[in-house]
Amino acid sequence: IHRLEESVVNRIAAGEVIQRPVSAVKELVENSLDASSTSINIVIKDGGLKLIQVSDDGHGIRYEDLPILCERHTTSKLSVYEDLQNIKSMGFRGEALASMTYVAHVTVTTITGGQLHGYRVSYRDGVMEHEPKACAAVKGTQIMIENLFYNMTARRKTLQNSADDYAKIVDLICRFAVHHINVSFSCRKHGAARTDVHTVATSSRIDAIKSIYGVSVSRDLIEVTASANDPTCLVFNMHGYISNSNYSAKKMTMVLFINDRLVECTALKRAIEVVYAATLPKASKPFVYMSIILPPEHVDVNVHPTKREVSLLNQERIVETVQTTIESQLRCSNSSRAFLPQQVGPKDLEQKKSTKDSEPNSSPSGSKSQKVPVNKMVRTDSKDPAGRMDAYLQDISIIKQKEKSSLSSMRCAVRQRRNPKETADLTSVQELLSDIDSKCHSDLLDIVKHCTYVGMADDVMALLQHNTRLYLVNVVNLSKELMYQQVLRRFAHFNAIQLSDPAPLYELITMALKEEELDSECKGNDHLKEKIAEMNTDLLKQKAELLEEYFCIHIDKQGNLCRLPVILDQYTPNMDHVPEFVLCLGNDVDWEDEKSCFQTISAALGNFYAMHPPLLPNPAGEGLQFYKKEIDHELLVEAETTWTQREWCIQHVLVPSMRLFLKPPKSMATNGTFVQVASLEKLYRIFERC
Ligand code: ADP
Ligand code: MG
Repeated sequence: IHRLEESVVNRIAAGEVIQRPVSAVKELVENSLDASSTSINIVIKDGGLKLIQVSDDGHGIRYEDLPILCERHTTSKLSVYEDLQNIKSMGFRGEALASMTYVAHVTVTTITGGQLHGYRVSYRDGVMEHEPKACAAVKGTQIMIENLFYNMTARRKTLQNSADDYAKIVDLICRFAVHHINVSFSCRKHGAARTDVHTVATSSRIDAIKSIYGVSVSRDLIEVTASANDPTCLVFNMHGYISNSNYSAKKMTMVLFINDRLVECTALKRAIEVVYAATLPKASKPFVYMSIILPPEHVDVNVHPTKREVSLLNQERIVETVQTTIESQLRCSNSSRAFLPQQVGPKDLEQKKSTKDSEPNSSPSGSKSQKVPVNKMVRTDSKDPAGRMDAYLQDISIIKQKEKSSLSSMRCAVRQRRNPKETADLTSVQELLSDIDSKCHSDLLDIVKHCTYVGMADDVMALLQHNTRLYLVNVVNLSKELMYQQVLRRFAHFNAIQLSDPAPLYELITMALKEEELDSECKGNDHLKEKIAEMNTDLLKQKAELLEEYFCIHIDKQGNLCRLPVILDQYTPNMDHVPEFVLCLGNDVDWEDEKSCFQTISAALGNFYAMHPPLLPNPAGEGLQFYKKEIDHELLVEAETTWTQREWCIQHVLVPSMRLFLKPPKSMATNGTFVQVASLEKLYRIFERC
């Protein structure tokens, strides 16, 4: 082992801070903003590899500071570590400029207020190449980065081949410009007369969005706000603009600032996507601008080398509150749309209002019920939950498939039918949806909307808290119903889960029949089973078109099951139940009457996607005996993962989706799905007597 030379260490560190040209631009623009500039102009040559030049009209850099300006860890923004807790400036590590000098040639021209002339000086590897030279200068600072990555051959080569660096830079400047509306920005290619972004300082956010993203975005926006001010658990303020039902785009644009920092937050983005996909399937790729302000001490800005991500205290709760707000505002603003399956009738609104009236103090997410003392607050895991899904499954966008497969006339016909004006032949789905509405139990609805997940009581019952009451709820029943309702809401608008290996229906059905036989413990006739499997396979092959168009269940010409629908985002069903599901499609669906056909298929899907207990016994409970007997370590590990995953899904997918989407039917009040087990008031009364 030997100690690396400092120059090597610095270059390695620099490669991490400055990953691509766009990261250098971000650092430079942030420096300009930190210097209170009101005008920032950017010029780029060769995607940033040849030249990045950022000029501002900020306060400039003092002559005395120039010698150490580009040394590592020199900054004017931070003195002691504690300052980080309240840091308002975007920079604080004093690393950006230094890093740039290790991977590029940096020239700084600057003038501070009241000076007659400015100075120009070039840097390499952290130090000045010569004494600062006096020169003419206009107010502010101009920084030129030339020949980026000149000494990192591999990176330069990969970047040279990528054409989109300039686009990334333009996108970045647009984002800054939407947020910092009191600063004017411009960005152009070197030598080009035309700018690709040009904004003037304004006081109206909408005007800024209009001038950057165009009127097609700005005319379809809804203003959203949310806030919480409970010092013991949650303090934040959110303001933003989100697109409405008329907006449509190929991909989601999410411009997020947290405490004025441009950041990404996967959890929040996904949460918003989920709401759009469920509420406005047609406009499911939204435009979102959002600014969240939190007490500085609740944000850890020092978790990512390029400060792209920040870590928040109570992230989950914030995400949840924002999600609920967006959902309700989307629904309320949805009056101009004529797409019936997602429309909220006046009845629902009244119901919402009355729940609010009766409980003026309840916050929209029900977060009141869970107060956490400040000293117990923890950071939550923002890692991408999708990573835990079964590895052999992948989500693919249905749109992609559409592009690939040839558009047959049949698809056109279906699309026409989806057109709101011609939905007459889908009244059956609307009827099924209004059946759900009319059967909804208003008290249970209030419970699911405002409940807090406590934990699992056993394999099927979960504990939910609602205000001062504790309920045992049957997860299987709830998830079955939720999936059923979501199938109808997403009807014909599903994304797809692609099976990596298409599964032959014939074998699936044979498997299911064998399992049934095991259950009933009687030996059946093999010939008969073959016949049933054959007939069912033929039947499903015949119905493939309908299954694919409306339910995204894709069966290929050879009779293999290839795709399944995404019913809840971030959730894939347990594939152990595929055989049973396929058999159920063959046996239990009524193919004659449209309404009951859709209803039975949706119910079959609901049953398949429901969160049944895994087949392996639960190692956390009595099931452990099973593994001791078998002494099968691998099986035990597998069982542990499956059960933990299921519980994670219940907490993070089922309960939040249930809050948003489930309309619990009246039957659930009496069939054991909801059982009240305790109420705080009564407990207090009992204890008072003691
Ligand atoms: P940091 O921003 O973390 O302090 P940088 O390496 O980005 O570190 O910048 C080092 C210092 O250089 C800053 O603290 C600031 O004082 C000064 N500086 C950089 N860019 C500018 C600018 N455009 N205008 C004024 N001062 C600047
Ligand atoms: Mg900086």
